[in-house]
Amino acid sequence: MPHHWGYGPHNGPAHWHKDFPVANGERQSPIDIDTKAAVYDAALKPLHPHYEQAISRRIVNNGHSFNVEFDDSQDKAVLEGGPLTGTYRLTQFHFHWGSSDAQGSEHTVDKKKYAAELHFVHWNTKYGDFGKAVKHPDGLAVVGVFLEIGAANPGLQKVVDALAYIKTKGKSVDFPNFNPRGLLPQSLDYWTYPGSLTTPPLLECVTWVVLKEPINVSSEQMSKFRTLNFNVEGEPEERMVDNWRPTQPLKDRQVKASFK
Ligand SMILES: [Zn+2]
Repeated sequence: MPHHWGYGPHNGPAHWHKDFPVANGERQSPIDIDTKAAVYDAALKPLHPHYEQAISRRIVNNGHSFNVEFDDSQDKAVLEGGPLTGTYRLTQFHFHWGSSDAQGSEHTVDKKKYAAELHFVHWNTKYGDFGKAVKHPDGLAVVGVFLEIGAANPGLQKVVDALAYIKTKGKSVDFPNFNPRGLLPQSLDYWTYPGSLTTPPLLECVTWVVLKEPINVSSEQMSKFRTLNFNVEGEPEERMVDNWRPTQPLKDRQVKASFK
């Protein structure tokens, strides 16, 4: 068994089950969203991301992706509504992307891959902290937003510009005053299903809320993501690309849609 999980041929998603048997579990993510099979549920409420008071702290290369971290010691940036009961606090967002614009998203829509996928990670405040929340089936809510190649996204440029300072694993820089509202599409129509983390330990603790409408990213912006490295400084360069898990079996689950 490789020393640590990653996305390479010897320690990538096809090997994760050896250290994390839940990789073959009953509610794994991501999945392909079959739009014809998704069932409109009139009981689903509108999604309410309250990000106005969000306090961003720093941006960090963790060797798998990069996280923009938020102060989650108070109810500042929260997610409510949608399929959720109660209040979920935003702790970080990160992305998954490809080695080319033709792939990169984790979820697919009728097998279509987007160039990247943004994940807003929130934990259920009834569990007190992130670490406790992941032990419960309703512990996390992750909002997934697809990135589609098009015009440059001004809401993303501050993030793109920060990547030059966090090229290798373990590097971080202060990243204050970033408001994530600019990374949401106009429509908050969504699909929802019960799933898991898409990185080890792959815990089955996530209510997924995948937005139907993608946001734009330019090919130039996307190419800056690919300048990051999986490795630490001083090791041979391994470009941080294709940090996505392939889709997993739906098994005994149904995807619900908030829209007709
Ligand atoms: Zn993710």
